Amino acid sequence: MLDKVVIANRGEIALRILRACRELGIKTVAVHSTVDATLKHVALADESVCIGPPPSLESYLNMPALISAAEVTDSVAIHPGYGFLSENADFAERVRSSGFVFIGPRPETIRMMGDKVAAIKAMKDAGVPTVPGSDGPLGKDSDKSLKMAEQIGYPVIIKAAGGGGGRGMRVVHSASNLISAIDMTRAEAGSAFGNDMVYMEKYLEHPRHVEIQVLSDEHGNAVHLGERDCSMQRRHQKVVEEAPAPGITVEQRERIGAICTDACKRIGYVGAGTFEFLYENGEFYFIEMNTRVQVEHPVTEMITGVDIVREQLLIASGEKLSITQDDVVIRGHAIECRINAEDAKTFMPSPGKIVHYHAPGGPGIRVDSHIYAGYTVPPNYDSMVGKLIAFGDTRDIAIRRMQGALSETIVEGIKTNIPLHREIMADGHFQAGGADIHYLEKKLGLK
Ligand code: ADP
Repeated sequence: MLDKVVIANRGEIALRILRACRELGIKTVAVHSTVDATLKHVALADESVCIGPPPSLESYLNMPALISAAEVTDSVAIHPGYGFLSENADFAERVRSSGFVFIGPRPETIRMMGDKVAAIKAMKDAGVPTVPGSDGPLGKDSDKSLKMAEQIGYPVIIKAAGGGGGRGMRVVHSASNLISAIDMTRAEAGSAFGNDMVYMEKYLEHPRHVEIQVLSDEHGNAVHLGERDCSMQRRHQKVVEEAPAPGITVEQRERIGAICTDACKRIGYVGAGTFEFLYENGEFYFIEMNTRVQVEHPVTEMITGVDIVREQLLIASGEKLSITQDDVVIRGHAIECRINAEDAKTFMPSPGKIVHYHAPGGPGIRVDSHIYAGYTVPPNYDSMVGKLIAFGDTRDIAIRRMQGALSETIVEGIKTNIPLHREIMADGHFQAGGADIHYLEKKLGLK
């Protein structure tokens, strides 16, 4: 078992990792920027190290500072959480070559999945269904691109191979603006991701976002924990997630789940991971794989009883998976609302001091958040300040419990998007289940 782990992240996920470590008897080291000394997990960790000033580039993205923190504290492993360096293959490599365990897949796997063109190719080879598309990077030949789009059929979407976080994509509805869209996406991708490779996919008009959670160990065992539906999105970013996905049958789950675990075995995947799919007319289309723990992992934990972060720690310490596919039993329904420090209407970030805080409770309610009364949300990072998760025997009960939890929650001093979540939970179309990825933006009048 790992003896001491550096938590190379902040906020709610740092606290989540700390809790999993504590349960396993693993000592924890919190690293933080100067503005983050007051984070809850910093107070709870066995040790803490200040790694730099507020800008992420000088702190949470500062590889030498993170590795030094592991060295000076005699730690054995680094957990990257999500975001920041969690999907940076160079970091994983440097962690390993410095003699520490990187809690995540092998650097080669991260590198391959970080290049979406390579990832799609590998997955297609492994039998995973993909979106009809260019099956490789787009070249400079305009005629070829025009012909390809014609073949695939408009609308198409131009995506950056190195893109992430919902950035670096452009929808094209007709041949007249295809080439300019390719050029613009390429230019943006070059400056934003340091990789100007772009590719083309058929733009699915009414898909849902359905993803499969997997766990895979270094001994060749892999299980899937069913699916999540993350179709409630704004600007390609998830707002509400749930598990299981409404309307997905047991047979569909078993079939796509087995495709994912087979792919894991075939590529020698090690760790927790997520296969993201678009789902339309009963078909799954792979779009990318995330090689880390995801923000929305709690909904899967609630319906399976499997602690995903605990499994990550066990897998990283070289153990065999503690469960087989037969042990995975899906029960009930869980919904997660991402609580952001932002204006619920304009989405403008709203950092500042929380003067009053009251967390919700009751049956089936889980709060994954680092905030407390007196805590100041700094303006330097992502605006998510926590996640509210509601579980129930049925989806209907989960929604009602979430509505209760949202109305109980009091956060004063900053604005939050809780009013938006109340609106979504009361929405007839959301309540019916199965809304597509465009629904929320249409409802908000953004589309
Ligand atoms: P990122 O890595 O930035 O999250 P993804 O490839 O996962 O990028 O896509 C993010 C979102 O963009 C999807 O959830 C979906 O809403 C939209 N999207 C991506 N590809 C397509 C497509 N081919 N057709 C329709 N929507 C798409």
